[in-house]
Amino acid sequence: KPIVLSGCQPSGELTIGNYLGALKQWVNMQDAHECYYMLVDQHAITVRPDPAALRKATLDGLALYLACGVDPQKSTIFIQSHVPEHAQLSWVLNCYTQMGELNRMTQYKDKSQKSEANMNSGLFTYPVLMAADILLYNADRVPVGDDQKQHLELTRDIATRFNNLYGDIFTVPDPHIPEFGARIMSLQDPLKKMSKSDDNANNFIGLLEDTKKITKKIKRAVTDSDEQARIYFDVAEKPGVSNLLSLLSCATGKTVESLVPDYEDKMYGHLKGDVAEAVVALLEPIQTRYNQYREDQAFLEQVMRDGAEKASAHASKVLTKVYDAIGFVAKP
Ligand code: ATP
Ligand code: MG
Repeated sequence: KPIVLSGCQPSGELTIGNYLGALKQWVNMQDAHECYYMLVDQHAITVRPDPAALRKATLDGLALYLACGVDPQKSTIFIQSHVPEHAQLSWVLNCYTQMGELNRMTQYKDKSQKSEANMNSGLFTYPVLMAADILLYNADRVPVGDDQKQHLELTRDIATRFNNLYGDIFTVPDPHIPEFGARIMSLQDPLKKMSKSDDNANNFIGLLEDTKKITKKIKRAVTDSDEQARIYFDVAEKPGVSNLLSLLSCATGKTVESLVPDYEDKMYGHLKGDVAEAVVALLEPIQTRYNQYREDQAFLEQVMRDGAEKASAHASKVLTKVYDAIGFVAKP
């Protein structure tokens, strides 16, 4: 079976963007692939979260993975910091990555602009840790949203460079970006992507949010002010309306083309009402299952223990190969 790896940061509550761009694909890939899905807590400390909030977001995220349908019987689910090989390989790969390559990463530029007060080097080397995450498992496919395309490209470059020097050590992974839902936009600023760490909570839809609040947020979403207020899909001309149509399409499973004619004589308010209804219908069962999993501490611990053990078994083999290739003396 081809190997799949992906993860989310416990940097806040997972959003509908994370679900549609990533988690939904993860669930669909479970049967035909050997899957590794993690919560990347080591990535999350680049913005220095409050320790209690990080701990909570990690456990919430774990219960949400399960609630969304990631199945520990089929997939390996683990916490990144429970598998020390990630940090270990990351150091090695740092020495095979050029400053200039990292300088070109747009996420680094965006995030460092946002956090001028804490310009730590982890923010800069984030994509190297991500490369380590992926390469440790010989992942063939990495299901991610469109925003991670550039990081994936860098991972491929690092893997290829390393293989050229030392032989066939790493599998060069392919990104797996969904056709629809790969870039859900912010509700108040549809020119930027929806992000769970956004300072303005009106910009995102959290998977665990109260459904009344979700409805309110959608009704307040920015739509495009042109005189005719027509409803059609055009990301350049109508970014707000197009984002709502994408959400409706992803939440109902109907194509955008099949939805648009229904709104020919309708107003923005109608569209928003329908989007809210569809999103709530999608999230309600997830929230119910989440509440059950989140209560079951023993089960969550079991999932974490099993996951870390399975992940480590794979990761340690790859790390040993790398250490040997670069000339580290094997521990007797
Ligand atoms: P942060 O703001 O902390 O970076 P995030 O919402 O960008 O949070 P990540 O943990 O960085 O979430 O990303 C987890 C996964 O979700 C990645 O595969 C990413 O590509 C995907 N993703 C993130 N935002 C979106 C979005 N708006 N639309 C579709 N997919 C997304
Ligand atoms: Mg992100």
